Amino acid sequence: MTEVIDCVAIGDELMKEIIAEAESLKARGITPGIATLLVGDDFGAKMYRGQVEKFCEEAGFNYINENPPADVSEEAVVEIVKKLNANDAVSGILPLRPFPEHISDSAVINSIDVNKDIDCFHPSNMGKLALGEPIFPPATPSAVIEILDRYAKKQNIEPKDFYEGAEICVVGHSNIVGKPLAFLVLNRNASTTVVHVFTSMKGNLEKHTNMADILIVAAGKADLIGPDQVKEGAIVIDVGINRVKVLDDKREPVLNEKGKPKTKTVGDVSFDAVKDKAKAITPVPGGVGSVTNRMLMKNALRACKMRQGLE
Ligand code: NAD
Repeated sequence: MTEVIDCVAIGDELMKEIIAEAESLKARGITPGIATLLVGDDFGAKMYRGQVEKFCEEAGFNYINENPPADVSEEAVVEIVKKLNANDAVSGILPLRPFPEHISDSAVINSIDVNKDIDCFHPSNMGKLALGEPIFPPATPSAVIEILDRYAKKQNIEPKDFYEGAEICVVGHSNIVGKPLAFLVLNRNASTTVVHVFTSMKGNLEKHTNMADILIVAAGKADLIGPDQVKEGAIVIDVGINRVKVLDDKREPVLNEKGKPKTKTVGDVSFDAVKDKAKAITPVPGGVGSVTNRMLMKNALRACKMRQGLE
């Protein structure tokens, strides 16, 4: 029978571990801290900022909110980063993108202290990740690995036996999800295939996805993966988050009480259609996203311990 992986339970378990570790650091007079940097008021970035603040509060971390207006100069943003680099209450800095157009991502990212770069944006940390020596593996890809590791452990499979030589296909090649994820599984000696929009445009997507023992999908396209794109007995991890209209039996939009189309959150995988073909699958919502922020906090804990010479 298919296992729907309980990512919410994994996230809760991780949070307990994080709180326990933060408490033991506090007993030694040390408090980890995260600073977010949001330039302007992008809706998605603002939502993410709020979540990070909430989790910091729950875990007893320091939290600093830097939120200059959208018309701030690039130099001023870099100055804010330098100030955070020098602040001992801040273990990790999280730039929340997108930035306004006149602010270059790389100018901001390159100015972050590599030892506070908890979501692995800095080229030096990405380089270490590629070499198999990550200091701070980025939150979303490492959430996927955490979910897979815990799944393997539950089946009594050693990580080595789980990953080595396994056919793993990553759908998506973005700098923040697909590429780092590919490095993480490649460094575990999986036979790694990365496919993307150009693979689909050539009509080759399912040729690759159908080979996968483990299929990880991070494309941001609802219903990209149906049963025809999944091998029988595969493990399917759906990273995608999409907001779509709710449709009735005639595929007409269902309206809410205000007469507007109702919407819901779905992944990239057609969950109901794929579920019975897969050996295990993560749902959306309640999937990878439930683990992602916890991985960021784990990195902040690590940064804090490194700073104190405890790691
Ligand atoms: P992105 O837009 O930067 O990259 C999308 C990738 O998908 C690209 O590599 C693109 O080539 C590929 N792609 C697009 N259409 C495709 C198609 N038809 N066939 C094959 N590949 C296709 O997005 P991202 O930042 O990497 O995020 C991907 C998804 O993951 C989004 O839905 C995002 O919301 C979600 N996400 C989830 C979490 C989480 O914690 N669950 C975290 C970050 C991102």
